[in-house]
Amino acid sequence: MTAYTCETHDYDVVVVGAGGSGLRATLGMAEQGLRTACVTKVFPTRSHTVAAQGGIAASLSNMGPDHWQWHMYDTVKGSDWLGDTDAMEYLAREAPKAVYELEHYGVPFSRTEEGKIYQRPFGGHTTEFGEGPAVQRTCAAADRTGHAILHTLYGQSLKNNAEFYIEYFAIDLIMSKDGACQGVLCWKLDDGTMHVFNAKMVVLATGGYGRAYFSATSAHTCTGDGGGMVARAGLPLQDMEFVQFHPTGIYGSGCLITEGARGEGGYLTNSEGERFMERYAPHYKDLAPRDYVSRCMTMEIREGRGVGTEGDHIHLNLSHLPPEALAERLPGISESARIFAGVDVTKEPIPVLPTVHYNMGGIPTNYWGEVLNPTEDNPNAIVPGLMAVGEAGCASVHGANRLGSNSLIDLVVFGRAAAIKAGKIVDRDAPADLPNGADIEKALDRFDGLRHAKGTTPTAELRLEMQKTMQSDAAVFRASDTLAAGFEKMKSIAAKEEDLQVTDRSLIWNSDLMETLELTNLMPNALATIAAAEARKESRGAHAHEDFANRDDENWRKHSLAAVSGHNIKLTYRPVILERLTDESQGGIALEKIAPKVRTF
Ligand SMILES: Cc1cc2nc3c(=O)[nH]c(=O)nc-3n(C[C@H](O)[C@H](O)[C@H](O)COP(=O)(O)OP(=O)(O)OC[C@H]3O[C@@H](n4cnc5c(N)ncnc54)[C@H](O)[C@@H]3O)c2cc1C
Repeated sequence: MTAYTCETHDYDVVVVGAGGSGLRATLGMAEQGLRTACVTKVFPTRSHTVAAQGGIAASLSNMGPDHWQWHMYDTVKGSDWLGDTDAMEYLAREAPKAVYELEHYGVPFSRTEEGKIYQRPFGGHTTEFGEGPAVQRTCAAADRTGHAILHTLYGQSLKNNAEFYIEYFAIDLIMSKDGACQGVLCWKLDDGTMHVFNAKMVVLATGGYGRAYFSATSAHTCTGDGGGMVARAGLPLQDMEFVQFHPTGIYGSGCLITEGARGEGGYLTNSEGERFMERYAPHYKDLAPRDYVSRCMTMEIREGRGVGTEGDHIHLNLSHLPPEALAERLPGISESARIFAGVDVTKEPIPVLPTVHYNMGGIPTNYWGEVLNPTEDNPNAIVPGLMAVGEAGCASVHGANRLGSNSLIDLVVFGRAAAIKAGKIVDRDAPADLPNGADIEKALDRFDGLRHAKGTTPTAELRLEMQKTMQSDAAVFRASDTLAAGFEKMKSIAAKEEDLQVTDRSLIWNSDLMETLELTNLMPNALATIAAAEARKESRGAHAHEDFANRDDENWRKHSLAAVSGHNIKLTYRPVILERLTDESQGGIALEKIAPKVRTF
């Protein structure tokens, strides 16, 4: 028995996370009169979504012809045929509605001359099912789109009486004996009190786990806490081997230069000044999808055509663009380039390198955001009372590789879908179940154990070991021997969690303890990533395997599921959903349009 007293809060819904997905879910729940709490470890508008620059994809056709089916086709191809068809259809179809809703909530989008929402080209977004030219589909608020969305959604959520619990750290889910989610245990960071949020529906919107790697564009708070909680509840994580490297992280700091920079006409060059993407992707050049551009850059560097004294990075050129266009469309990245690379983009190229950016994998869900616990009889079995949205979830629309600007749209489409579903299935009048006391006790014991951890390995040291291993052994290119060695290494690193040393025992603003809790969340995410990567004997999307260079649909068009318990991992698989929501007679896409083929650009 631990000596913590918990304050209990009763809600219909508790959303964990206040990024774009968490806020969109919170707003949708509150609008329907569900009593909704949103719990967040950082102030809502400091969530990583604030850093999203380039924009949000939707086939509005404001800049030329577009169609939701073209968007769906691009998403299917971008996913390298690993996404779930129903979810990808839902995303592309609902995207325009979700963007117009954002507009009406007050998002200050950039405008065309006629006053319509401005849209820019982005990698992998095309017309005519990949046969036509690139399309301008990405709606933008200059290069601060995430910032604009987050502030608007936070204001709207407050207006609709959602209640915010800010700087509360969610530690663990509370699960009933028969496997339903009943709530979440939280630690209030500024006064050290403990809180049980008892709810009929828990929505995990905790973001990605980029910080499992050494160099990432994501915020230091992106530690995969939702994935960690789910793994400890005995539930699997899906498709974790697919980690996106963004082609243009600033060399050294990893700070992102949006793909919008190439969308506005920027291009990459090697040490010979050559626009090498023309050679690899004659059709779409610098606007080929991210996994592909990152691999081409890596090959240029490996073949000795990198730039800089070490020949270890690539140049991104913007100086040919009119200074007014840079000031109007890309003001934020001009500033980032000055601060983090000492470069004036109107005169010099920016030094860039592929940098960890996004996690395609996560907590498996259906397209309503309901979390799945697949069984042999039912690969789509749901966990009652639990949803996951945003980067923490895996619906799966991004499959093996996400297209740029398809995450922001995923946040709002599925945040909204989760609210629609919860509105239907949460019984407002029923009393919430009493939370499982034994599970609360277990979570408190884990917390207390870490708080008093007396080992010899400081948290920062173990975290660095994990980050370096992931960076070198689960990278842009992977090979059987390095994956196998990396997996073994990660297992021994994870085993050292037993030996963690926490020096601060207080409960108030204890960043040592918070970072330790975060490390215990990063670890199962990292283990699942490298285990699933080691097992997947093919190349698909972001998983480029040197010993298995081709995609193998016969054996590997399936989702990986990794159940992580301590440093033990059990891998199983789940079929990709091939059924559409609607067929041609209902206006749906023709199956032959989305049949697997070789992915070229
Ligand atoms: C630099 C950068 C630029 C990007 N640009 C674009 C772009 O232009 N277009 C695009 O489509 N995508 C872009 N992306 C991707 C996209 O922004 C992210 O995938 C998305 O914002 C993630 O949103 P989210 O709601 O899932 O989580 P986040 O915005 O990461 O928010 C996570 C939330 O969970 C909370 N949380 C986490 N753990 C806990 C815990 N234990 N207890 C309590 N609260 C917790 C946090 O406080 C936070 O509120 C970009 C990503 C980066 C890193």
